[in-house]
Amino acid sequence: MNALSDDEVHRLLDAVLGPRDASRRATTLGAGGYDLEAGRRYLAAVAGTGLAVPTWPVEFGGLGADAAEARRLEALHHRYAMPDMYPFRVGLKFVGPTLLAHGTPEQQQRWLAAIASGKEIWCQMFSEPEAGSDLANVATIARRGPAGDWILTGQKVWTSRAAYADWGICLARTDPDVPKHRGMTMFAVDMSAPGVDVRPLRQMNGDASFSEVFLTDVPVPDENRIGEVGQGWKVALTLLAHERSNADRSAPPARDAPLLPSWLTELADSGALADPVLREEAMELFCYDRAIHHLQQRAAELRAAGKPGPEGSGLKVHGARSFKRRVDLLARARGAEALRSDWPGCVDLLTAPSMSIRGGTDEIQLNVIGERILGLPAEPRVDRDVPWTVARRGAITPSR
Ligand SMILES: Cc1cc2nc3c(=O)[nH]c(=O)nc-3n(C[C@H](O)[C@H](O)[C@H](O)COP(=O)(O)OP(=O)(O)OC[C@H]3O[C@@H](n4cnc5c(N)ncnc54)[C@H](O)[C@@H]3O)c2cc1C
Repeated sequence: MNALSDDEVHRLLDAVLGPRDASRRATTLGAGGYDLEAGRRYLAAVAGTGLAVPTWPVEFGGLGADAAEARRLEALHHRYAMPDMYPFRVGLKFVGPTLLAHGTPEQQQRWLAAIASGKEIWCQMFSEPEAGSDLANVATIARRGPAGDWILTGQKVWTSRAAYADWGICLARTDPDVPKHRGMTMFAVDMSAPGVDVRPLRQMNGDASFSEVFLTDVPVPDENRIGEVGQGWKVALTLLAHERSNADRSAPPARDAPLLPSWLTELADSGALADPVLREEAMELFCYDRAIHHLQQRAAELRAAGKPGPEGSGLKVHGARSFKRRVDLLARARGAEALRSDWPGCVDLLTAPSMSIRGGTDEIQLNVIGERILGLPAEPRVDRDVPWTVARRGAITPSR
């Protein structure tokens, strides 16, 4: 592991970031516009130092750091005004580690440096109109072209960041005649390729990078296939595990960070904590967040070791619940004023419902926890062993 001292990190960050201004709020998950350039400037400035991707191997611009070291480095950012890193998140946190696990050496060379330096932005093209919770039902078809390359046709939906992404990691069906989990393959789709039609959808919180993506005979070279043909589900599970275990976005406490989180300071400053009911709820939430923080550390350790597991589902559920409780508490403390769009927390209020849906719904995370952690009986899956084409026609007779 290559170490960066505190002083070295501060020297690097002093050169590119201004001091943190506690009164300025970061954007909420892409809501209300995006500034790609500020994030790019930061990533370009630290590229090659490993600061943005500390757990990646040294040969791909990381530091080979473990979770504790990555936390130390992240905490050193606390005193700076960080740009909005939401646009880069899929590449840095989900696709990068997935390429490290499943990509060829050529693919790792081709994409990892461009992700780490912010040059190329990725989006995640998994969900479809009939494949959300039942993701293995994807109907985007990838067929072989005459030269052995691939041609993709289908529709993706709810694709965050598609409006500005350079690449989409795309789950597609390469063999419709085998059971659904076995007939999929993962591809990297160039978002500027002919046949890619991105149609932005506006969420109620103002995020308009979220899109439908129509794919019509999109050419994809075989060298952009990630993993073996028919192994797309395995690659998807790796990416989803990284997504879920990254779900808690609360920053790790830094040595120079204030003890109280900003939401609690906001409540205290507003005088709302004089109300004993709100005060009790606030203290419960503060303790809940501390417990989540420990869960986050466990997930980060597994992630840094390249082995994110079902624990990420627990983090995802609790992270969403905590976000919603916090927003609800702040809104109730504020009363009718919380509906004013000039209150910065209003964006959080409008984002809160999506927290239990994006990245897989709470119900699906609870299923994962039930089956993979608690060992409870699995859900009945009547279509597990029948060809996808048969299951899709609904021609299954449940066996007893
Ligand atoms: C803000 C936002 C951003 C998103 N970004 C992306 C993205 O970038 N890329 C991407 O690919 N997708 C993205 N998604 C899609 C997201 O992953 C899906 O919306 C989610 O997986 C749920 O799928 P669905 O909407 O089709 O709902 P459905 O699967 O139709 O579910 C409907 C309801 O049924 C419940 N349900 C379904 N199956 C079960 C079951 N087996 N057991 C119990 N309950 C069940 C669900 O929990 C839910 O309450 C995003 C979604 C949102 C809201």
